[in-house]
Amino acid sequence: MSNIKILPEIISNKIAAGEVIERPASAVKELVENALDAKSTKILIEVEKGGRLLIRISDNGTGMDRDDAILCIERFATSKIRNDFDLFSINTLGFRGEALASISSVSKFTLVTNNDTSKPGTKIVIAGGIIKQVLDIGSPVGTMITVENLFYNIPARRKFLKTVSTELNHIKETVSSIAAGWPNVNFKLQHNGKTLNNWAVTSDHVERITSILGSSVTNELIQIKSCDNLVSGWISSPRVTRSTARGIYIFVNGRLIHDRVMQHALIEGYKESLMKGQFPLAVLFLSVPFDQVDVNVHPKKNEVRFANSLKAYESIKQTVLKTLRIFNKPHFTNPQESSYEKNNTISSLSNKTNLKKTDVVFSEYVKSNTKKIPFNPDSTYRQKTFSNEDSFRDLRVIGQLHNTYILCENAEGLILIDQHAAHERILLERFKQSLKDSKIAVQKLLVPETIELGYKEVDVITELIPDFSKLGFDIEPFGGNTFIVKSTPLLLADKEIKPIIFEMVEKIAEIGLPLNLSKTLDKCIALMSCHGAIKAKQPLSEKQIQSLLCQLDECDNPSNCSHGRPTWIKLSTKFFEKSFNRII
Ligand code: ADP
Ligand code: MG
Repeated sequence: MSNIKILPEIISNKIAAGEVIERPASAVKELVENALDAKSTKILIEVEKGGRLLIRISDNGTGMDRDDAILCIERFATSKIRNDFDLFSINTLGFRGEALASISSVSKFTLVTNNDTSKPGTKIVIAGGIIKQVLDIGSPVGTMITVENLFYNIPARRKFLKTVSTELNHIKETVSSIAAGWPNVNFKLQHNGKTLNNWAVTSDHVERITSILGSSVTNELIQIKSCDNLVSGWISSPRVTRSTARGIYIFVNGRLIHDRVMQHALIEGYKESLMKGQFPLAVLFLSVPFDQVDVNVHPKKNEVRFANSLKAYESIKQTVLKTLRIFNKPHFTNPQESSYEKNNTISSLSNKTNLKKTDVVFSEYVKSNTKKIPFNPDSTYRQKTFSNEDSFRDLRVIGQLHNTYILCENAEGLILIDQHAAHERILLERFKQSLKDSKIAVQKLLVPETIELGYKEVDVITELIPDFSKLGFDIEPFGGNTFIVKSTPLLLADKEIKPIIFEMVEKIAEIGLPLNLSKTLDKCIALMSCHGAIKAKQPLSEKQIQSLLCQLDECDNPSNCSHGRPTWIKLSTKFFEKSFNRII
């Protein structure tokens, strides 16, 4: 006769309960997570005698119908996954289908639930895993689960429970740490009928976090966000510290986890700012694609395995490090005000579309030895730009910042123009227009330039010689890999010609033969504009600035360079008034 026996379900549930439910706080965690998965916005947690006597969680979530209510207390009964594919893309807190089975096998358990206001709800009473009663009962939509006398049928386990105040502290910690990640849910915790916490729904996450971490972090929380959006949250300034890591909460896709490695990453980020043995406070949120994190690592589901844990580690560490470096520097602007400015008032023009051109102006930008054709202000219809009537030329020029940005003012505030980006846009539009009109102005080189190319580039340039000539480059083969350049576009008159041709040929070789002509010309024009444009860190005279502004007015789209970056930004007067507390 075989010695090995399959255990009855009641015993296996009790064994499972040993893993999942260690103490009243673990039951609270599972039941609150179920309420969150059921999309509740209001969760009441009532406990008596530290949860040893009673735990009751009531929620206003979706609730269950009678059939589901009977099923949900079965082991491996879950509505959250269906197949093993789902198991690797879990977006709920629960998924193992064992919490209710476990809890109800080691307590006196009552479930009241309803998912339909027009029907009665269901009440199920269970003791030690055995269903005692199932009946219809009047109930609002939502679920209420009462767990009495936890471990009453496992004396060995009950005896390990600690004092009322210790167990209550664990429950407080559980509820508050979950609440830190769910500001849009109202959590209320009561002990022996007395309300200990009542966190109202808030759209201000900082408010929720401050009420959980304590008033010492008021005005001391720094928002962090990694470039890859993997990590976000709030960390305490190095002025506020603790002697333990208990003020650190890490959520992965909404799930609170205990992960020493990620905690270490955070602390490493503070390396330059904290003394040894001190810990920061933090609420971190990691959003990881669901298939990049395995949550089925531990029955309590408070550990996860990352597909790429080094990436998460580095992302936390570097984001914290960089944020604190900025924070620790003396700053002249109040960061909140400048982020206000960023979100609300820095504006740049979107494409100008209805600007009509009647005339193509070939005025050269700064070359004194080229002929300047006077700009004709009446030749364009202008669209509203910075304010009702303004155009670039009407701005009052204040000067240059770092020889890179042109500072201007108008009635609305300060306008900063990126001189390179702006000139690049001007040249781009001019090249395009003159190519269209087959009117590229050229200049003959006194001394032709010779260039030598690699074998790949030789094929490209040989094929492109006629197109280059349309762009104003007169190039001839000189035998082998050598070519001579006899003339260049006038707009590139004072520029070094070799790097421009090298880059054009290289870029086109990258696209590969056979060539798409319009794509090729576009690429060439973009490169010519970039090379031809005045650079950053180049001092400009007042006249040159004025000329640039006039030429910007001529552009169809003066607000973006050929790479799509803005050519100008505006800092509104309102921003300054707010920053100087002239207005609130
Ligand atoms: P899991 O959460 O892993 O699915 P549980 O044993 O915790 O397993 O719950 C079993 C099922 O019971 C859940 O999948 C869900 O469908 C249902 N359920 C549990 N609690 C609630 C609740 N508060 N509101 C609505 N449905 C619930
Ligand atoms: Mg669950």
